[in-house]
Amino acid sequence: MLQLDICLRRYKQQYAAKAVRSENVLDTKDNKTRNKEKNRDYSQYFQTTYTPPSLKDAKKRGKEQTQILKDFTIPENLKNIGVGKKFYIRTYGCQMNEHDTEVMAGILNEMGYDVTDTSEDADVILLNTCAIRENAENKVFGELGHLKHTKANNPNLLLGVCGCMSQEESVVNRILSTYPQVDMIFGTHNIHRLPQIIENALFSKEMVVEVWSKEGDIVENLPRKRKGNVKGWVNIMYGCDKFCTYCIVPYTRGKERSRHPQDIIEEVRQLAREGYKEVTLLGQNVNAYGKDFEDLNYGLGDLMDEIRKIDIPRLRFTTSHPRDFDDRLIEVLAKGGNIVDHIHLPVQHGNSDILKLMARKYTREHYMELVNKIKVAVPNAALTTDIIVGFPNETDEQFEETISLVKEVEYDAAYTFIYSPREGTPAAKMKDNVPMEVKRERLQRLNSVLNDISLRKNQAYIGKVVEVLVEGESKKNPDVLTGHTGSNKVVNFKAPKHLIGEIVKVKITDAKTWNLGGELVVEKSEVVS
Ligand code: SAM
Ligand code: SF4
Repeated sequence: MLQLDICLRRYKQQYAAKAVRSENVLDTKDNKTRNKEKNRDYSQYFQTTYTPPSLKDAKKRGKEQTQILKDFTIPENLKNIGVGKKFYIRTYGCQMNEHDTEVMAGILNEMGYDVTDTSEDADVILLNTCAIRENAENKVFGELGHLKHTKANNPNLLLGVCGCMSQEESVVNRILSTYPQVDMIFGTHNIHRLPQIIENALFSKEMVVEVWSKEGDIVENLPRKRKGNVKGWVNIMYGCDKFCTYCIVPYTRGKERSRHPQDIIEEVRQLAREGYKEVTLLGQNVNAYGKDFEDLNYGLGDLMDEIRKIDIPRLRFTTSHPRDFDDRLIEVLAKGGNIVDHIHLPVQHGNSDILKLMARKYTREHYMELVNKIKVAVPNAALTTDIIVGFPNETDEQFEETISLVKEVEYDAAYTFIYSPREGTPAAKMKDNVPMEVKRERLQRLNSVLNDISLRKNQAYIGKVVEVLVEGESKKNPDVLTGHTGSNKVVNFKAPKHLIGEIVKVKITDAKTWNLGGELVVEKSEVVS
């Protein structure tokens, strides 16, 4: 475990002072001595105080048991430190990050800070970053550039970088060398240390870097400030042990570690008591839930079977890995009820050789077998997926297998990505003969096939009545409300605003590639409260 409290600015200042002092003395020395002094390596002054995060350390998987910590507290002296001040968190990437943001917002609230939705009037700005692709990282560096001016206008502002990028040595080094406006860098394992990190940054005014490159523990009693009061995320596990060869997540999020069922069930019960309408069980690979329990034979199917009995109208889970998707889970999904008929089942590729190179540990045939089993057990299930195009050396024929798989499964929707090499992962070392232009063309073709299927499937909804959880006003037109069906279709329709937060019936009258349009079905006894 590496804990880093780096006092870089102080050392930079010391280094600068030292350099100035040396210059004065050197004026009286001859040129030879002067050059020798100038070439001296001062990096030691930095190295003594700064141990970088290490992807190599983060990759290690030891035998020690996960620690479950329940002793999170905000130290007395930090409880009101934020009174009268505001924080702003910008979140990049997946639901896991969104949920981490809710935790950080909860901690900041307990320190007295209030939320603001603009960076301009914030006293603390956190960028909760994503490392999954290069362009996700570039966005963060771009934002750090913009925030230089915000920081110049408000020198008391604390600017922090956290999330998956902070776990990468190259990122931390780049921030240290190029973005002096940053006050704090902390990692995914250090979120519960936010009060102390802020204290350090606030009082010492030195750049604080605290990144633990470790397998990770579970901190149970963290506060959360959830976004809204209709849909709630509940972590069931953390980390990933799959090490797909293209993916940085196992290095940035630690090992697979499951929360105890009782802690999860209690959290879902609490959300039900608070009137939440939907709960999504979260993990990078939820199908591996429970595999790390030493004294309990209990998996995702068992957990879902218990949670479905809680009085919460909708229950989702994400993300599934096909390899660990077992029959027990399928049996529970078939029970329906509050378990929604939507399954996100990332396939990544349609060709078995590429799947092997990706270390996905299933073949196209296994995946199709699983899809067919799910379709039999849950006939109305909407299937969505993630697909990567342009993996190193992907041939036209191999890419065509992705297209044929997409047509065979008939996904309702998909997230599609061009492969992005991630430093430190095995795939990044593979030589790649596919030009970017070809990758872009493949992505376009794939998206057009997916869009055709999606539109066709959406058109089949016309005339049907669906249940929609109303989430709010449409971004394009405030007179229109928007929400999701259980199968995760976006539905837009006109209705009174008091229905926001309710589940209502809507008759579908219009279908587009990405959403459905409809009319509210007024069933007074059921719909209007
Ligand atoms: N755990 C999930 C799984 O295995 O399916 C996915 C989690 S990952 C945050 C979301 C998606 O990002 C992946 O399914 C994959 O399609 C994509 N992804 C991950 N690494 C990538 C990379 N290096 N280049 C492009 N896409 C990537
Ligand atoms: Fe990444 Fe694979 Fe883990 Fe998903 S299962 S997070 S793609 S390593």
